[in-house]
Amino acid sequence: MHDVVDLRSDTLTLPTPEMRDAMARAEVGDDVWEEDPTVKRLEAMAAERLGKDAGLFVTSGTQGNLVSVVAQARGGQEVVLDADSHVFNYEVGGAAVVGHVQTRPIKTARGFLTPEQVREAIRPANIHLAETALVCIENTHNRHGGTCCTPEEIAAVAEVAHGAGARVHLDGARLFNAAVALGRPARDFCRAVDSVTFCLSKGLGAPVGSIVCGSHELVSRARRVRKMLGGGMRQAGVIAAAGIVALERMIDRLADDHANARTLAEGVARLPGLRVDLASVQTNIVIFHVERGAADASARATQELVAGGIARKVKVHAIGPMSIRCVTHKDVDADDIRRALDAMNEITQGWA
Ligand SMILES: *Cc1c(COP(=O)(O)O)cnc(C)c1O
Repeated sequence: MHDVVDLRSDTLTLPTPEMRDAMARAEVGDDVWEEDPTVKRLEAMAAERLGKDAGLFVTSGTQGNLVSVVAQARGGQEVVLDADSHVFNYEVGGAAVVGHVQTRPIKTARGFLTPEQVREAIRPANIHLAETALVCIENTHNRHGGTCCTPEEIAAVAEVAHGAGARVHLDGARLFNAAVALGRPARDFCRAVDSVTFCLSKGLGAPVGSIVCGSHELVSRARRVRKMLGGGMRQAGVIAAAGIVALERMIDRLADDHANARTLAEGVARLPGLRVDLASVQTNIVIFHVERGAADASARATQELVAGGIARKVKVHAIGPMSIRCVTHKDVDADDIRRALDAMNEITQGWA
């Protein structure tokens, strides 16, 4: 039970006492000189878990995706991705600004490119066309409500991409949520891809940081790009220490977040004026829609729900005029979920 039930994002998780302790004790050195033992340990642990040669500690998921794109696509080349992807929508156009790379957004049904879509999107050799250098996949899928794709689906897309000479990047900001939800080791999702990013700072609860994994060659190129972006972080072992605790202690408990999200979604589905696609609730994200007749009435009701929640110490996030997103995480427990449902029940009472 917490004073405020904060469902806006799993990025709001606070470091655990064990993380604070590990941070205070961390052995550190200059990581730009590759002399920080704690950063090295975290990178090696991550690479081992994902079945890759090497890892690179980066400041954020956004930086991880950007260094991965820039390390694998030159200016004027093209990156194929889903139109709802985080890289395309929420990364400030970094691939264009820093990499001079052209993005090719493809509309997908579930947020996941199919092998056929990738085959169609990859450009043939032709003097008029940008070369397709990279295909990006996102798992779990943020805008589609934390949905998962399987290692086999990723491998099928990668086979087409590789067959055409393109590389594959997995934006696995919440990769461990997918692994826990599907009961598959995280490395299974990474086997077919050239680079993968995951966040330590979301459901895993670390205060800062993400990891990029790939071959030694990919990681050494990514390391140069990270330096260019100002991401060479000196005694970064202080924050990497929390990342080690995140990897060692915080993965298995993601199942609790998934159970809480399920309870929340099923409760929301019973409330008047709220619609949720229960099939899309596969991990720790619940997206639901407010339906109160006309669009403007629905938009007003959405605002009412957000404001009414704040008045009851329950914070939810409007991701569109009539859409709300709730994300469960370690700082939200089963009692908090009941409180959130009670609050929404009170607010929607008058709507029926
Ligand atoms: C959160 C997120 C990112 C970016 O991570 P930051 O650490 O917030 O920069 C990238 N991709 C997806 C799918 C995300 O959900």
